[in-house]
Amino acid sequence: MTDKTVILGSGMAAWGAFDRLSAEGVTPRMFDKNDFPGGHTASFETDGFIFDDGPHISFTEIEDVKELLAEAVDNDYEVLKADVDNYYQGVWVQHPAIAYLHALPEDLIVQILREFIEVSAQPVPDKPANYEQWLLASYGETFTRNFPGRYGKKYHTVGPELMNTEWLGPRLYRPDLNEVLLGAIRPPQTSKHYIDKFRYPKKGGFEGYLRKFFDRADLTLGHRATSIDPVAKTIRFDNGHVESYTDLISSVPLPAMIEMLPNVPDDVRRAGSLLSCSQTVVVNIGVAREDLSPAHWRYIYDEDMRSVRLSFPHMFSPTTCPPGHGAVQVEVYYSDKYKPLDHKPEDDIKPVIEELTTMGVLREDDDIVFSEARFIEYANVIFDLDSGPAAKTVQDYMASIDITPCGRYGDWAYIWTDESYLSGRTAAQKVLDSHTS
Ligand SMILES: Cc1cc2nc3c(=O)[nH]c(=O)nc-3n(C[C@H](O)[C@H](O)[C@H](O)COP(=O)(O)OP(=O)(O)OC[C@H]3O[C@@H](n4cnc5c(N)ncnc54)[C@H](O)[C@@H]3O)c2cc1C
Repeated sequence: MTDKTVILGSGMAAWGAFDRLSAEGVTPRMFDKNDFPGGHTASFETDGFIFDDGPHISFTEIEDVKELLAEAVDNDYEVLKADVDNYYQGVWVQHPAIAYLHALPEDLIVQILREFIEVSAQPVPDKPANYEQWLLASYGETFTRNFPGRYGKKYHTVGPELMNTEWLGPRLYRPDLNEVLLGAIRPPQTSKHYIDKFRYPKKGGFEGYLRKFFDRADLTLGHRATSIDPVAKTIRFDNGHVESYTDLISSVPLPAMIEMLPNVPDDVRRAGSLLSCSQTVVVNIGVAREDLSPAHWRYIYDEDMRSVRLSFPHMFSPTTCPPGHGAVQVEVYYSDKYKPLDHKPEDDIKPVIEELTTMGVLREDDDIVFSEARFIEYANVIFDLDSGPAAKTVQDYMASIDITPCGRYGDWAYIWTDESYLSGRTAAQKVLDSHTS
């Protein structure tokens, strides 16, 4: 059995690993660089406004995880039907736009339909060379250029021609021709979004789902691991503390992990340098008004706007705002590799407020009672053409030195909280199995 298992991180993946180990009577020691627990599932309260670390809702279909989260908040959660829409050059279009074309200008609808009819007659290639090829084959040129191609570049910071399609899953809806034609005439009667319903804790923001775990864990905060000696099996932290381990599970992003290891072979180091993630500046705004939006979240397609997605926390749970107030959280995306952040995060606040006013979400006379910008260093894995084989090279190397990666940035995958939790559980199982084989 593992004498001393260490987990790096305290987000969903770490929680999954912790749960699996505790079920076998193992109490891991956990360390997080942040001075707060929860990683991306943390929520922050200031002046009565609660904002998550980027908008977080639970739309898991995994029964296990559903039960676990429900139990974590003593069944005190909201179940909401997702209302989602898109902003496109002054028009609000239901999401996914391809199924709701009727709201668009007529000449654009006609052009999209002509091309969609053409591409519908052909199968979508099983192995497209890149994401752009997949989009063109799925939707045609005009829809691709105006909608998913354009949004993708804002969200991932890189054009679809440089991305693979490994990450797609159910994220992009491809209706059949009849649905598209009907949606061009009138709104469809049923929801077409891959998220139909979602859950959110009634109190305390998304972090509510993890709070019970914080109380049970042996967790030390404010400890950033800076180097790991996989032979001596020790971890050194930025404050000089050294911890020894028999087993190490890590939810630290792979590129940062490589930086911590000595004597990494050149090909592995090179692979680590090819991996990149987007970064987010979240602009959080509190307003003395609740009726900010009919939709829970909204995608912004216009290239001249830096806002990428808007979410409205008070519509997830009214307890995230003081009574009579509303909030909007706006994501703006950057990446070291493709779109470096060349200004202070706070510099995004003013232009974002101007954009919200242009879109009609805010009014000129609105009383903005709270605003802040937070920087999220690791947001989404960028699935550029370099990323797939490079991640595997790094993961294989980590396995060879007995470090078990997990979570969104250890698996290097476009996974949500539920899959991150399961990833941590799987990592813990690997560690447990290594002591029985
Ligand atoms: C903007 C945004 C919106 C999202 N929305 C949703 C959503 O609506 N629903 C959903 O299910 N999922 C959502 N996700 C995905 C979700 O956040 C992740 O899948 C999940 O939280 C990842 O958990 P994790 O434990 O793998 O990583 P993290 O939560 O990032 O945890 C990793 C931990 O490791 C710690 N760490 C890193 N380096 C070190 C170090 N050197 N030493 C010590 N500790 C270190 C970090 O501080 C962090 O706490 C969203 C993600 C983003 C970015």
